[in-house]
Formats: sequence, structure tokens, C-alpha cells
Amino acid sequence: MPLRLQMLGTGGAFAKTYYNNNGLLSADDYTLLIDCGITAPMALHKLNQSLDDIDAVLITHIHGDHVGGLEEFAFRMKYVVGRKPRLYVAEPLLKPLWENTLKGGLSQEGIIHSLEDVFEVYPLTERQAVQLAPGLSVELLRTPHIPGKSSYSLYLNDEIFYSADMTFQPKLLEQLVHDRGCRRILHEVQLTGPGEVHTTLQELLTLPEEVQEMILLMHYGDEMENFIGATGQMQFLKQHEIYTL
Ligand SMILES: [Zn+2]
Ligand SMILES: [Zn+2]
Repeated sequence: MPLRLQMLGTGGAFAKTYYNNNGLLSADDYTLLIDCGITAPMALHKLNQSLDDIDAVLITHIHGDHVGGLEEFAFRMKYVVGRKPRLYVAEPLLKPLWENTLKGGLSQEGIIHSLEDVFEVYPLTERQAVQLAPGLSVELLRTPHIPGKSSYSLYLNDEIFYSADMTFQPKLLEQLVHDRGCRRILHEVQLTGPGEVHTTLQELLTLPEEVQEMILLMHYGDEMENFIGATGQMQFLKQHEIYTL
């Protein structure tokens, strides 16, 4: 059963033309929201996407463009839809996600005191694949982004790599392709300026052509259209289009 992916947005953290880089990943009638950034509620609204159809949300790391929409998502799920969605998140992120990000807005005396009061929380362990639904498994791979901040890329169905925000890791990509049969790579890209905490287009262009052919680029800036035709064998992932992976 092929996976379907529809990105709510494909923009980098400061993009304005594109929504935050969050995606709806579906296997049959099961739908996982990958990250829920500041613009996610608006993007879901634009797509006419009912929250009722979202079974679970998975968080890759704690930055506004990946978690900034969770407060509204949690409130609407609780008070409008009337259901606790599943929350998949790496165990080390659980405490900071509540204490540093969500507690201030979500806390309600006698009603909401923890993530568990609004989500069915499923802590994930890196390098351990978990079956989320028939036809969909996820394994977290810890990948470097900001020093001192944990961030996790995804390995889906043991064949599709979905990068969190990350610095360039050519050895990891090579190992996934050659040792683990990876056939599709969804990768963040920074088109201009130094990468520092992201992966630049120049870096991705150093990958072998057969690896580039597997890559769809996401998490890009508003200048994306200027780079069409300048991405080697790689293509841009487009927000709101439905892809079969
Ligand atoms: Zn980001
Ligand atoms: Zn980030």
C-alpha cells in the first residue's frame, strides 16, 4: 500500500510565500500530521482539511515552524472534535514540549495539567521502528540541527527518509541508500546563504546523481522559483500537491 503525502507547507522557518514545512502522511484511511507549526491551522483551513480526519501528530523538534500550531490543534481537538489525538514524540522532547512550549497556553486548572490531558502520548525511542497503523511504520533517526537541541528525522516503512531540519549528513544518506534500501528522500534545503544549522543546496549537489534522483526538496525560502532548473537531479516538493511515495 503506497503512502500518500500532502505537505501543508514547504517553507523554511522565515518563508512567507509558503506555509511551514508540515505534512499530512496517509496510509489507507490513517492520517499522520508530521509537525504542526505556526501556520498549520491556517493551512489546514485552506485545504478544507477536517481535523477529525487526523489520527495522530508527530513532532520532529521544538521550533515554532514545527510546534507553534500545537496549542490550537490541541484545543480544537479537545473542545470542537472531542477526541484525544495520538502524539508521537521522541522521549527526550516530552518534557521541554510541555514545560517550555505548551504549558503556558494549554494549562487549565482542574482540566489540563499535562500533555496526557489533551493527547494520547506515545514516546518514541530513536532507532526503534514503530508500527503506527497498517502500512505505516516510523523510525526516528537523531540528526544534528541546533547545538544542544534534539531533532529527529524519520525513516518511513524502512525505505523513505524524511529529514527534520538538519545539517548535511552525506554519510547517513549514503548508508540509508546502500545498506538499508532507501529509495526516496524528502530533504530540507537552504537555497541561499551559509547552512550552519541547515543543509545547503550546494551541499546536496555534491551527492551522487543516483542519490539526487531520489530527493524531493522541502523547507525552502521564498526565492525557490529562482532555483527551478538549478537543483541537479533533485526536484522541489510542492505544497498542497498530493504525492504517492
Ligand atoms: Zn524548520
Ligand atoms: Zn528547526
